[in-house]
Amino acid sequence: MSQEDFPYEVEVTVSHQFRASHALPMRPELHTHDWQVEFTVAGLIHPETGMLCDMLELSDFLKPFVQELDGMNLHEAPVLKSTSEMDAVTRKYPTCDTLAYHFLKRTQPALKANPRFAGIRLSCIAIRIFEPDGKEPWGSARIRPT
Ligand SMILES: [Zn+2]
Repeated sequence: MSQEDFPYEVEVTVSHQFRASHALPMRPELHTHDWQVEFTVAGLIHPETGMLCDMLELSDFLKPFVQELDGMNLHEAPVLKSTSEMDAVTRKYPTCDTLAYHFLKRTQPALKANPRFAGIRLSCIAIRIFEPDGKEPWGSARIRPT
Protein backbone atom coordinates (compact mmCIF):
# COMPACT_ATOMS: atom_id res chain seq x y z
CA MET A 1 0.00 0.00 0.00
CA SER A 2 1.31 3.40 -0.88
CA GLN A 3 2.14 6.16 1.50
CA GLU A 4 -0.40 8.44 -0.23
CA ASP A 5 -3.13 8.19 2.38
CA PHE A 6 -1.21 7.87 5.58
CA PRO A 7 2.57 7.64 5.85
CA TYR A 8 3.72 4.46 7.56
CA GLU A 9 6.38 1.83 7.68
CA VAL A 10 5.72 -1.71 8.87
CA GLU A 11 8.35 -3.76 10.67
CA VAL A 12 8.48 -7.57 10.63
CA THR A 13 10.70 -9.58 12.96
CA VAL A 14 11.92 -13.17 12.68
CA SER A 15 14.20 -14.87 15.16
CA HIS A 16 16.62 -17.78 15.40
CA GLN A 17 18.73 -19.20 18.19
CA PHE A 18 22.15 -20.71 18.46
CA ARG A 19 24.33 -22.07 21.25
CA ALA A 20 27.98 -21.06 21.40
CA SER A 21 30.84 -20.50 23.80
CA HIS A 22 33.06 -17.61 24.67
CA ALA A 23 35.39 -16.34 27.38
CA LEU A 24 35.60 -12.68 28.31
CA PRO A 25 37.82 -10.76 30.74
CA MET A 26 35.03 -10.60 33.34
CA ARG A 27 34.45 -14.38 33.08
CA PRO A 28 37.66 -15.83 31.66
CA GLU A 29 36.80 -19.56 31.58
CA LEU A 30 35.26 -20.79 28.33
CA HIS A 31 31.51 -21.10 28.90
CA THR A 32 28.37 -21.60 26.84
CA HIS A 33 25.33 -19.42 26.21
CA ASP A 34 22.18 -19.63 24.20
CA TRP A 35 21.83 -16.61 21.95
CA GLN A 36 18.70 -15.38 20.23
CA VAL A 37 19.03 -13.26 17.12
CA GLU A 38 16.07 -11.13 16.02
CA PHE A 39 16.11 -9.68 12.54
CA THR A 40 13.71 -6.81 11.89
CA VAL A 41 13.01 -5.64 8.36
CA ALA A 42 10.96 -2.62 7.36
CA GLY A 43 9.08 -1.27 4.37
CA LEU A 44 5.64 -1.00 2.85
CA ILE A 45 2.84 -3.56 2.63
CA HIS A 46 2.61 -5.12 -0.83
CA PRO A 47 -0.95 -4.62 -2.19
CA GLU A 48 -1.01 -8.05 -3.85
CA THR A 49 0.01 -10.01 -0.76
CA GLY A 50 -0.98 -7.86 2.21
CA MET A 51 2.52 -8.37 3.57
CA LEU A 52 5.86 -6.65 3.65
CA CYS A 53 7.38 -10.02 2.75
CA ASP A 54 6.82 -13.71 3.32
CA MET A 55 7.86 -14.15 6.95
CA LEU A 56 8.68 -17.85 6.56
CA GLU A 57 10.78 -17.20 3.48
CA LEU A 58 12.61 -14.43 5.31
CA SER A 59 13.16 -16.73 8.28
CA ASP A 60 14.51 -19.56 6.08
CA PHE A 61 16.78 -17.12 4.25
CA LEU A 62 18.36 -15.83 7.47
CA LYS A 63 18.65 -19.14 9.32
CA PRO A 64 21.95 -20.30 7.72
CA PHE A 65 23.68 -17.11 8.90
CA VAL A 66 22.77 -18.00 12.48
CA GLN A 67 23.61 -21.70 12.08
CA GLU A 68 27.14 -20.72 11.06
CA LEU A 69 27.83 -19.96 14.71
CA ASP A 70 25.88 -22.83 16.29
CA GLY A 71 28.04 -25.13 18.42
CA MET A 72 31.09 -22.94 17.96
CA ASN A 73 33.75 -21.60 20.22
CA LEU A 74 33.16 -18.03 19.05
CA HIS A 75 36.85 -17.18 19.30
CA GLU A 76 37.55 -19.76 16.60
CA ALA A 77 34.45 -19.62 14.36
CA PRO A 78 35.58 -19.84 10.71
CA VAL A 79 33.07 -17.20 9.63
CA LEU A 80 34.78 -14.70 11.93
CA LYS A 81 38.24 -15.37 10.49
CA SER A 82 38.51 -12.54 8.01
CA THR A 83 41.17 -9.90 8.28
CA SER A 84 38.76 -7.07 8.98
CA GLU A 85 39.40 -5.05 12.11
CA MET A 86 35.88 -5.59 13.47
CA ASP A 87 36.09 -9.37 12.93
CA ALA A 88 39.30 -9.35 14.96
CA VAL A 89 37.51 -7.45 17.73
CA THR A 90 34.60 -9.93 17.54
CA ARG A 91 36.95 -12.94 17.74
CA LYS A 92 38.61 -11.44 20.79
CA TYR A 93 35.39 -10.22 22.41
CA PRO A 94 32.37 -12.14 21.09
CA THR A 95 29.70 -10.13 22.92
CA CYS A 96 26.07 -9.32 22.10
CA ASP A 97 27.35 -6.05 20.65
CA THR A 98 30.00 -7.49 18.33
CA LEU A 99 27.77 -10.39 17.26
CA ALA A 100 24.99 -7.93 16.38
CA TYR A 101 27.50 -6.11 14.17
CA HIS A 102 28.59 -9.44 12.66
CA PHE A 103 25.03 -10.39 11.71
CA LEU A 104 24.39 -6.93 10.26
CA LYS A 105 27.49 -7.19 8.09
CA ARG A 106 26.67 -10.76 7.01
CA THR A 107 22.98 -10.37 6.24
CA GLN A 108 22.45 -6.82 4.97
CA PRO A 109 24.27 -7.28 1.63
CA ALA A 110 22.67 -10.72 1.13
CA LEU A 111 19.18 -9.32 1.68
CA LYS A 112 19.85 -6.39 -0.65
CA ALA A 113 21.09 -8.75 -3.37
CA ASN A 114 18.03 -11.02 -3.21
CA PRO A 115 15.21 -9.90 -5.55
CA ARG A 116 12.69 -11.75 -3.33
CA PHE A 117 13.29 -9.09 -0.73
CA ALA A 118 13.26 -6.06 -3.03
CA GLY A 119 11.85 -2.97 -1.36
CA ILE A 120 12.57 -4.04 2.20
CA ARG A 121 15.46 -2.96 4.35
CA LEU A 122 17.07 -4.41 7.43
CA SER A 123 16.15 -1.98 10.20
CA CYS A 124 17.41 -3.67 13.36
CA ILE A 125 19.15 -6.76 14.70
CA ALA A 126 18.76 -7.64 18.37
CA ILE A 127 20.86 -10.24 20.20
CA ARG A 128 19.70 -11.67 23.51
CA ILE A 129 21.93 -13.76 25.74
CA PHE A 130 20.75 -16.61 27.98
CA GLU A 131 22.40 -19.01 30.33
CA PRO A 132 22.12 -22.53 28.82
CA ASP A 133 18.45 -23.56 28.95
CA GLY A 134 17.63 -20.29 30.70
CA LYS A 135 14.07 -19.08 30.29
CA GLU A 136 14.80 -15.37 30.27
CA PRO A 137 17.65 -13.46 28.65
CA TRP A 138 19.74 -11.50 31.06
CA GLY A 139 21.02 -9.00 28.54
CA SER A 140 20.67 -7.84 24.98
CA ALA A 141 22.08 -5.50 22.36
CA ARG A 142 20.52 -3.92 19.31
CA ILE A 143 22.19 -2.60 16.20
CA ARG A 144 20.78 -0.43 13.43
CA PRO A 145 22.46 0.50 10.18
CA THR A 146 23.08 4.24 10.01
ZN1 LIG B 1 29.41 -15.30 28.79
